[in-house]
Amino acid sequence: MNLGFYMPTKVIVGKDCVRENSYVFQIGKKALIVTGKKSAKLSGALDDVKNALEKNNIEYVIFDKVMSNPTVECVYDGAETAMEEEVDFVIAIGGGSPMDSAKAIALLAVSDIERKNLFDGNIGNKALPMIHIPTTAGTGSEVTPYAILTNHEKQTKKSIASPCLFPTYALLDAKYTKNLGLATTVNTAIDSLSHSVEGMMSKRANIMADVIAKEAVKIIASTFDDLISGELTEDDREKLLYASMLGGVVISQTKTTAVHAMGYSLTYFKNIDHGRANGLLLGEFTKYIERNDRDRVKEILSCMNLDSAEEFKNILAKILGDKEKFEKEELELYAEIAQNAGGTLNSMFVPSRDEILQIYVESLM
Ligand code: NAP
Ligand code: FE
Repeated sequence: MNLGFYMPTKVIVGKDCVRENSYVFQIGKKALIVTGKKSAKLSGALDDVKNALEKNNIEYVIFDKVMSNPTVECVYDGAETAMEEEVDFVIAIGGGSPMDSAKAIALLAVSDIERKNLFDGNIGNKALPMIHIPTTAGTGSEVTPYAILTNHEKQTKKSIASPCLFPTYALLDAKYTKNLGLATTVNTAIDSLSHSVEGMMSKRANIMADVIAKEAVKIIASTFDDLISGELTEDDREKLLYASMLGGVVISQTKTTAVHAMGYSLTYFKNIDHGRANGLLLGEFTKYIERNDRDRVKEILSCMNLDSAEEFKNILAKILGDKEKFEKEELELYAEIAQNAGGTLNSMFVPSRDEILQIYVESLM
């Protein structure tokens, strides 16, 4: 057996876990809190964090300029604030966008990396310590060593990756996700489902990641009916947040596949939410893997009590509703972009440009 597994983030899950574990904030003396515009406040997470910091006499400044699908400019801006304010740790509150931005900011605050070199793969191994508090249940970024940023030069989204980007702590309280709108709830749930399913279709899949992925897929599948009806219970919220973290642990080992690589164009060119973009492609990509390795796909589908990838595609279509419209020429450009992307090459069977185009066409036209 060959196995390597490294996931150093300390995970704490539970109601009121921020308030009840305020000692974790003692990892530094002054924090930069990284958030989006509204939800950190509206979810109650920001107040809980401020209380915990004040209780420990820890200073903080807030950087609340993170937009969805954050840009390189945004994280350099945040890093400048971090340096000017001489913070010694970073707290992320929000969905994947603030969490990923916080990682890049924590890196750039202590590393001299030019913008043109940020995606070189040579970012070193130094970053400020971080505490991540997710308010969506989807990306699992709180337990991954990746930050995904919009790269206008390459007209896609690119990731930076380093073990130093693992947060020190992840604090998960599902009450922060209670008022998440239905579309974001669905899209983020499908992102996390995609992480676990892709983890099992990745070249880097391993037996330990498989165990975790299967558990996450089972949990998410138990919420399918409620995701379709739009009536999410407190129990669903807890399950989805937990499963999303598990999905993050999976991809922290396996990375993602062609699904994510192909989905980035739907987000970049059509502004389709990240999780929805993956969900639109996941069924057809699973069919492609099924044609190459039926048994592997059976293993995944059995966690959802499904018999075929076609059935999986139909359930996803039901959850995601009406599709956006695409022209064939657009899909040809996307196939061109996705063919050499890292995620594509990380798939257990690597689709050719024509196969990628076929997956796009079958998924979206
Ligand atoms: P997001 O872009 O972080 O947030 C989407 C929207 O949801 C924002 O408008 C946000 O508002 C709002 N929101 C967040 N929490 C809320 C709450 N509790 N109640 C109401 N609204 C809330 O979305 P996301 O899907 O979580 O993250 C997507 C990003 O993560 C993408 O850039 C993707 O590439 C990346 N990603 C990263 C990894 C990784 O391993 N690092 C994995 C998968 C995806 P505010 O702006 O006001 O906060
Ligand atoms: Fe994702």
